[in-house]
Amino acid sequence: MDPHTFRRALGRFATGVTVVTTGTPQDFHGMTANAFASVSLEPPLVLVCVDRRARTCSRIPHFGAFGVNILQEDQAPLSDRFAGRTGTQDGPPPAFHLVTAVTGTPLLEEAAVRLDCRLYQSHAAGDHVIFVGEVLEARQTGDARPLLYYAGGYHALGALDEAGPGVTPPRW
Ligand SMILES: Cc1cc2nc3c(=O)[nH]c(=O)nc-3n(C[C@H](O)[C@H](O)[C@H](O)COP(=O)(O)OP(=O)(O)OC[C@H]3O[C@@H](n4cnc5c(N)ncnc54)[C@H](O)[C@@H]3O)c2cc1C
Repeated sequence: MDPHTFRRALGRFATGVTVVTTGTPQDFHGMTANAFASVSLEPPLVLVCVDRRARTCSRIPHFGAFGVNILQEDQAPLSDRFAGRTGTQDGPPPAFHLVTAVTGTPLLEEAAVRLDCRLYQSHAAGDHVIFVGEVLEARQTGDARPLLYYAGGYHALGALDEAGPGVTPPRW
């Protein structure tokens, strides 16, 4: 499989955008990630896939915990900041505030949803590591709308607004 074709194909899968946070208030680190999924309800588990070369990859096992911060529609600059994409936005770097979770992990106060996770398992998978986290706490900011990532760019939920209330509700 040609890697370019592979990446282009997977880019057609629309996702939300998260910032995975690790460390302590004194030693905080964040990394943008869209390879995030829910795994289990009982116990409540989620996963993130992290590139072996990313600093986050060694920090999650070191701290035994991580945070998943699901970004809001207007937080593309924050996504770029935590992806190391400097200079893609005009003006000063976007501000953020930290709140400390039960595990001690700092979370982004401005996120749409904040998940505080204790490291449950990790699995080597090619050039990435799959980290499974047990969610100890989930906090939500009102009806915040999510930032989406699709075909290499950021998007909003506009098309769904046009669909109106006829959208099928989840069955679980
Ligand atoms: C939409 C999107 C989705 C992505 N999904 C994934 C994915 O699922 N898995 C994956 O492995 N990679 C993903 N990436 C790539 C990943 O975000 C980058 O490769 C990232 O730079 C790797 O992070 P790192 O842990 O090496 O941290 P670094 O590259 O060291 O840090 C990331 C950036 O975050 C900022 N930062 C970190 N900590 C702080 C702090 N305390 N204060 C201020 N700024 C700080 C810095 O500006 C730094 O450049 C994605 C990128 C994008 C844009």
